[in-house]
Amino acid sequence: MSEIDDLKERVALGCRVLAKLSLTREPAGHVSARIPGTDHILIRGRGQTESGVRYTKPEDVIVVDLDGKKVGDSEHNPPREVFIHTWMFKTQPQVQAVIHIHPPTVVLFTIVGKPLLPLYGAYDPSSLALHRRGIPLFDRSILINDDALGKEFAETMGDKEVCLMRGHGITTTGTSVEAACLNAIRLNELAEMNYRAALLGTPRPISDEDYEAFKTQGAGSQGPPRDASRDATWLTYKEMVGE
Ligand SMILES: [Zn+2]
Repeated sequence: MSEIDDLKERVALGCRVLAKLSLTREPAGHVSARIPGTDHILIRGRGQTESGVRYTKPEDVIVVDLDGKKVGDSEHNPPREVFIHTWMFKTQPQVQAVIHIHPPTVVLFTIVGKPLLPLYGAYDPSSLALHRRGIPLFDRSILINDDALGKEFAETMGDKEVCLMRGHGITTTGTSVEAACLNAIRLNELAEMNYRAALLGTPRPISDEDYEAFKTQGAGSQGPPRDASRDATWLTYKEMVGE
């Protein structure tokens, strides 16, 4: 299998995992990956014959350039919000994959303007680590469907791995497709736990001392490993969608 075919498979798998976990509403959502050493990216395409996000196949993944224009003769077209992806790849050279989805629970927090609080440590050190590294908010609710908005969004997200988008969704990045997916899954977990805690009682952030301890303690303090495709957690998700 060629490098590009392998990457298409991984982009499609990422889509299927995120949809299986109900992290996005059909058919919204796209995963992309930089084709190493080129100015091209792979991204889930849109079109009349596309599979839904949950059933994305490698054939649904198309090539686009950094202006968001389709390269090649696929019958699918780039998603309207391809500019989220192109601008993250243009402005963050370390980023190898970008995900944009609409996870309902996370979006609720942006709708009511409630912050995601660090409510736990050992329960899931990786999602606490995301909190530690910062979760910016893009405070507009429009589609990112041109270069000006893509640039504005990329300036807000900067070099963070996750970004909230008010009344809209989230964007995550990673050094691989799998790492970007895991960042999305962990951000969603943080939101789910905040949501349930608020239903049950008054959420209590962990102590400053414990929060600081996770600077050095716990998995994920430096973000997901580069080769997250062999990460045990990722392999579990892969199995979950029957791969
Ligand atoms: Zn969107």
